[in-house]
Amino acid sequence: MAVPKRRKSRSRKKMRRAQWNLKTIELGKCSTCGSRIPTHVVCPSCGHYMGRPMIEIED
Ligand SMILES: [Zn+2]
Repeated sequence: MAVPKRRKSRSRKKMRRAQWNLKTIELGKCSTCGSRIPTHVVCPSCGHYMGRPMIEIED
């Protein structure tokens, strides 16, 4: 089995792991109120998901 020749330095390890959470959130549009929300998430402004009411929003 191939084995790494050198141990990665603390700095290299950190640089590699710095990329882990860099994924951007995909923004979709709420089909009910039209606001920009992340996909697969209940809309925080109108409480709808897939066109159906999921939670009650109080003003
Ligand atoms: Zn909405």
